[in-house]
Parts: sequence; C-alpha cells; structure tokens
Amino acid sequence: MNQDVLLALSYIVASVLFIMSLRGLSSQETARRGNLYGMIGMALAIVATFLDGRVDAYFMLIPAVAAGALVGIWLAIRVAMTAMPELVAMLHSFVGAAAVLVGMASYLGHSEGPHDVVHLIEVYIDIFIGAITFTGSIIAFLKLRGSLSGRPLLLPGRHLLNLALVLGSIGLAIPFVGGEGATGLVPMLIMTGLAGLLGIHMVMAIGGADMPVVVSLLNSYSGWTAAAAGFMLGNDLLIVTGALVGSSGAILSVIMCRAMNRSIWNVVFSGFGAQAGVAKPTSDGDGPTEIFEIDVDGTVAELMQAKQVIIVPGYGMAVARAQHAVRELTNLLREHGARVRFGIHPVAGRLPGHMNVLLAEANIPYDIVLEMDEINDDFAETDVVLVIGANDIVNPAAKTDESSTIYGMPVLEVWDAKRVVMMKRGRSAGYAGIDNPLFYLENTRMLFGDAKATVDSLVTELRQQAQAEAA
Ligand code: NDP
Repeated sequence: MNQDVLLALSYIVASVLFIMSLRGLSSQETARRGNLYGMIGMALAIVATFLDGRVDAYFMLIPAVAAGALVGIWLAIRVAMTAMPELVAMLHSFVGAAAVLVGMASYLGHSEGPHDVVHLIEVYIDIFIGAITFTGSIIAFLKLRGSLSGRPLLLPGRHLLNLALVLGSIGLAIPFVGGEGATGLVPMLIMTGLAGLLGIHMVMAIGGADMPVVVSLLNSYSGWTAAAAGFMLGNDLLIVTGALVGSSGAILSVIMCRAMNRSIWNVVFSGFGAQAGVAKPTSDGDGPTEIFEIDVDGTVAELMQAKQVIIVPGYGMAVARAQHAVRELTNLLREHGARVRFGIHPVAGRLPGHMNVLLAEANIPYDIVLEMDEINDDFAETDVVLVIGANDIVNPAAKTDESSTIYGMPVLEVWDAKRVVMMKRGRSAGYAGIDNPLFYLENTRMLFGDAKATVDSLVTELRQQAQAEAA
C-alpha cells in the first residue's frame, strides 16, 4: 500500500479513536476505556508521523520525544489530584509555545518564491492564539499554585487595554502579509509580544477561584491553535484533534459557567473573586450568628439511628484526601442497615468531575453516587446529611438571597433533611467568599476538624458502637 494512503488511514483511525475517547470520558463507568482509546489513538498518531516520508530528523526527534515522555510520566505519577488543574495549565502552556515556534519555523523555513497569503494568515492566527495560550497558561499555573496572588488585577481602563492589544495585533497583520523576509518578521515578532501581553493581562484580571474555568478556556484555545497549526502544516489529524479539543474545551467552560449561574463574559471580564476567601454576610449582615456544634460521639449517635444517609462531598474532602476514609464510613453504615447515597454537585471541588474521580478512586460503587438533579428531591426523606468539606454548593442563599453573589446557582438542598452535619475546620467561607446561612439553621450541627481526621474518628467510633450493639 502507498505510504501516503497508509498515513491517511492511520490518521483516520486515530481521529475515530479520539472521538471514541471523548465519548468514553462522558461517564465514569466508561472513562477508563475512553482513556485507553485516547492513548492508543495518540500512540498510533505518533508512530504514523514518525514513519511519514517527510520526516527525517530522527536524531533530534527520538531524544525529544523520549525526554518529553519521561517528564510526562514523572509528572503524572507525582501529581496530587488537587494539583491537577495547575498541571493541566502547565501542559497548555507547552501547546501554546509549540504553536508559536511551529508558526515561526513555518514562516522562516519558507525559501522558494513569495509566501502564499492564506498560509501567512494561518501562520499569523496560529502564533496569535499560541502566544495568548502560552502566557495565559503560565499565569493560570502560577495563580493555581499560589505563587501569584489569586486576587484579580483590575487595572483602570483594562478593557480598553485589551482592545488596544487586539486591534494592534490585527493591524500588524497588514505589514506582515505585505512584507517579505525581515519586513514581515518584525511585525510578526511585535504581534507575538502583544499577544503574549494580552494573555498575561487577561488572566491576571481573573480571580484565582475562577482559574478552573480559565484553564478549560485555555484548553479550548490550545485546541484551536493546534487546528490552525494543522492547516498551516497541511496535517489533517492536527486539524481534527485541534477542533475536538477546541470545541470540547469551549463546551466544558460553558457547562461550568452554567453550573455557577454565570456567563463566560462574567468570568472573563468581571474580576469576580476580589474578595475570595473572606467571609462576608450574604445580605445585610444582621442574620443569626449562633451555631450549634456537635462532636464525633454525637454524630455517631445520630448515624446509628439513621435509615437514610446522604453524603455531600466538596473541595475540603479533596484537600484532606478523605475519600478512602469516607468509603470505610459508607461500608460501615451500609452494614449497619442504612441506605447511603452520595449527592454530587456539578461544580463541587475545583475541577469538573472532581468528586466523581475521587469517589471512583476510593472504589465507592457508581450506583450510589447521584447527580444533584437525581437526588435533590430526596433530602426531605433523609435522616442525616453529612456535608464533608463542601460549602458553596449547599448554600441556601443561592435560592433565597437575591443580593448574594451566588444567587441563582443551583445547589444541593440539604437543609430539607432532618439533620445536617457540616464537617469543616472552622467558619471559613468557601470559594465564593461568602457566609453560609446553613451554618445557623436549627437542624444543622457543625463538626469542626480536618475532614480526614474527623471521618477517621467517626469510623473508629462507629465500628466500636456497631460491635457493642451486635455483642
Ligand atoms: P467550597 O470552596 O465552597 O468550600 C470548601 C470548604 O471546605 C471550605 O469552606 C473549607 O472550610 C473546607 N475545607 C477546606 N479544607 C478542609 C479540610 N482539610 N477539612 C475539612 N474541610 C476543609 O467548595 P465546594 O466544593 O462546596 O464548592 C466548589 C466551589 O468552587 C463552588 O463555588 C464552585 O462554583 C467553585 N468552582 C468549581 C469548579 C469546578 O469545576 N468544580 C470550577 C470553578 C469554580 P474550612 O476552611 O473552614 O475548613
């Protein structure tokens, strides 16, 4: 078979595998398989590209791919689940840098005759989006890591500055397309600088707490820049893969915004999160301030009586890495005859599907892990709700307080249950930086402490009580 036909066939098979991979990743039962399809598709794409007749610099390619693979494996093994968004941000910066370098190489490597205008436009778009993705992702990485403040940088006239950078970049396309050699190179380099500045400024203006949405947006940009590189290099697989990443990243960003009842424009341009982490009253501040505490013994006494239990995990469970202890607790409660289910909010934690991944990692059966819409009506029939390190996703102000920043966000209506036990370390606010009226309700009990330590104590005490009861 002709080598070109073989290459085209391999690319088609790899594209289909990537689509099947995305399909698989849409549900936790099939996610492992989806990952496998993606890995096979990528391996096939790399091998096919290696064997492409136009590729000959193996002495550079093989060490580069080997070094990249080693670094990737090392990072993937070491990364903690909670640090996943920052790793993804870093990886996107590589895609952006690659796009800029490939665009420049494609421009500078052209030696015969004048440049084709369409090709020049492809190069320009590729470098523009690539530079934004590169610098924006590095800022997102630094913010997520805590090396840069999470507060949005709100410069006066910042929207005008963004507009000037965009218009300046578009304007420079004219001398770039019209110029040859060095005359085209200078506007291209200036545009690269402007686009890089735009990436820095746009992400600096976004609150650290919105970084997951930004990472998803940058993911989308990295896809589009790869698609632009595909057009530039005449590589069909890069076009298909880039379009898949670009569109799925954009859809994911919109889904995350919807789950927070905010628009993508609000996330990118409003500077939300200026107050992140500082609890401020949801309305005029004259509401109740008294809370009712409970200890481990008291919680176990309630759990021993409970027939229906719902566990609502949030960001704190992820930080405390309490998921394995939660599985033990679940097993004990089920052995004791309680019906235990999990209520998962679509934006619980700091990345989409965060809780599902952690619960799956701890081998909690999928059939007791329910989405918000599936479980919200059941709280009224529930004896005990254990809220483990969650806050905003169970905040009643989202339903009742029109002045709240999270008003309108769909939430888990845990307060309908007979008893709500909130497990967290103190009275701190969650991601949105606002007070939670749930703390002060009569049927709420606050169980203070690190989620892992507290769940461990619950497990020990519950086991003893259950054994004593059986004896
Ligand atoms: P929150 O950030 O609202 O609350 C987490 C709570 O966990 C905090 O109040 C904190 O209180 C507690 N906590 C922290 N560490 C520990 C610990 N070691 N042990 C026990 N508790 C701990 O998280 P939610 O999951 O409720 O909500 C997610 C938020 O993130 C939403 O506002 C959502 O909009 C936002 N978001 C989510 C995205 C996603 O894709 N999932 C993307 C973007 C934003 P304390 O310090 O007192 O312990």
